[in-house]
Amino acid sequence: MAATNETSSQVRVGVRIRPITSKESSEGGKVVAEANAFDRTVGISKRKFTYDSVFHSNVSNEELYNNVAPPLLDAFLNGYNATILAYGQTGSGKTYTMGSEAGGLNESAGLIPRFLSGMFTTLFERKSASVKSALRSPSKTDGSVGNSQIPSLIDFRVSASFLEVYGEDIYDLLDEDRTSLKLREDTNGQVFVVGLRKNPVVNADDAMGILNTGTMNRTTAATLMNCTSSRSHAVFTIHLKQTTRTSEGVDITTTSCMTFVDLAGSERMKKTGAEGERMKEGIKINEGLLALGNVINALGDDERLEKGEKVHVPYRQSKLTRLLQDALGGNSQTLFLACVSPSDTNASETISTLQYANRAR
Ligand code: ADP
Ligand code: MG
Repeated sequence: MAATNETSSQVRVGVRIRPITSKESSEGGKVVAEANAFDRTVGISKRKFTYDSVFHSNVSNEELYNNVAPPLLDAFLNGYNATILAYGQTGSGKTYTMGSEAGGLNESAGLIPRFLSGMFTTLFERKSASVKSALRSPSKTDGSVGNSQIPSLIDFRVSASFLEVYGEDIYDLLDEDRTSLKLREDTNGQVFVVGLRKNPVVNADDAMGILNTGTMNRTTAATLMNCTSSRSHAVFTIHLKQTTRTSEGVDITTTSCMTFVDLAGSERMKKTGAEGERMKEGIKINEGLLALGNVINALGDDERLEKGEKVHVPYRQSKLTRLLQDALGGNSQTLFLACVSPSDTNASETISTLQYANRAR
């Protein structure tokens, strides 16, 4: 279990307000949610909420990336797990923000394509730097290379997995046969999905290809089941294994995961039009999100952690939180990004998202 080192996990909460859409405007929607970057607040109908960071509607995906990604990328490349989750009602900008249905690395690309590109650039740079340093200063008798005190990267392997949590079922989005997969814990208490594919990838384009394949399978499955993918959580994970050599010539292998979660729409089910299966499904989605809120809340309970109190993190309340246990706990760095619409026509969902995110902080 991660219980022993939970204390060092870090959760930061940000809120992003997207621009008003033409549909909202044409329905008479007025901008009522405003972000103030100076005091890190979002105001809506005389209420104000404070977060670790806020992003107003003019902030581009590039600016967002430059603001939030570097510390997570650093942590990941240094062997720690890092996670970004996007939360919000359907249409609030989660997928746009994450780039989890990416076409590629264009001007408006979201966080995932940018992250993949930044990650491979650094990995290739580090590797070529260590090759150069090895060539400059040939192997010593003890087998060490170079004279740098910094461990040099001698090799890395990257793979990607992409899954979907639908109610309490987990599906591999890289497998066209849609079979529900099981969660299991290994002897170290690490949670894993039995049979989940981890496709090796050698560069950013390769990894983006995996993202696109999974997205296609996800859309196809949703169409076959006559529903939308906004009812499921999409979890895209990059697995990194690095071997570095210390100045003493010792090889050390580290593994880390970068997880991107495009959560199911947080909107409450309307009483009308949601019956039977749909209603049950809606309840399950909300249970997952509720459990996630409880987990994030417990992880961010700095006051109690500072007092040295053990905080119980309730991962077991849902499949989603059990699945994300290693991504969120331990020494992980987590960014929770709540996405909201600025329009008064969505005000009640926006307030409920802001409250959820405020509690998570
Ligand atoms: P969600 O994934 O939360 O359902 P989407 O990411 O699909 O929402 O966004 C809904 C619509 O709003 C899309 O057409 C998307 O392109 C647009 N959109 C969302 N956020 C932004 C933004 N920050 N800037 C410009 N367009 C945005
Ligand atoms: Mg979406």
